[in-house]
Amino acid sequence: MTSEVLVIDDLNKVFSAPTGNVVALEHIQLKVQQGEFITIIGPSGCGKSTLLKIVAGIDTEYEGSVTLHGKPIEGPSIEKGFIFQEPRLFPWLTVEKNIAANLSLKNPEVRKKVDELIELVRLQGFEQSYPRELSGGMAQRVAIARALLRNPDVLLLDEPFGALDAFTRSHLQEVLLDIWQKNRTTMLFVTHDLDEAVFLGQRVIIMNPRPGHIRNILPIGLPFPRKRASHSFQELRHIVLKEFEKVEEPLLDQGAGI
Ligand code: ADP
Ligand code: MG
Repeated sequence: MTSEVLVIDDLNKVFSAPTGNVVALEHIQLKVQQGEFITIIGPSGCGKSTLLKIVAGIDTEYEGSVTLHGKPIEGPSIEKGFIFQEPRLFPWLTVEKNIAANLSLKNPEVRKKVDELIELVRLQGFEQSYPRELSGGMAQRVAIARALLRNPDVLLLDEPFGALDAFTRSHLQEVLLDIWQKNRTTMLFVTHDLDEAVFLGQRVIIMNPRPGHIRNILPIGLPFPRKRASHSFQELRHIVLKEFEKVEEPLLDQGAGI
């Protein structure tokens, strides 16, 4: 019995456009262990979102093999939670109803799980609030709780904190790590932010564009909780930064702070 939850073998993806074909992903090889926290970083257009959508089963037109627990991914399902940059909540539902979504809060099991998740994402007291009453960071925590309610095998996060201010972002990073340490959900987390990639990931995947491919996979062997100010964190950040500098194009947005 393997502990690999996700196996991507020679994945290739081409978009045909009027201006010609775009090779969005070329020869992607990746094995993700159960419970692993993977961060993916690379410039705009290098295929990060395409990769996540294929793993999510939202895009099923590709060449190669992508399996979850040994089975090919055939479409979206509750085993694959997806968190977008914007929370995509139902504006007409309260926080707790957003988290429960199509499940009934009258079901005691659902009720219990929703209550546990509200505590986990630190939203006690806001159960009856509506999305318009929440800050961006709180709304994103609702989206995370909603995805976790389905006990996903893998949580796919596409720049989930990209629209948040630096303070909220670092708070949500702590919340997410707390969730990960308690639930051991396998995470595939896309970011533009180098600090975020090194702070969260056990492995950082660096991607390059044209064609979109994995340039390098760097293990981050620091124990959790990590301290940004520590010498070892700064050393590793520097190693990842050096790898970045080999990318031919300006890679980072202002979020990376370099
Ligand atoms: P990233 O998330 O890293 O910014 P994407 O995965 O969104 O990159 O896009 C990878 C490449 O594929 C880009 O060149 C983009 O223009 C192209 N692409 C993405 N989606 C489509 C689509 N639906 N049709 C045509 N080209 C697309
Ligand atoms: Mg993207």
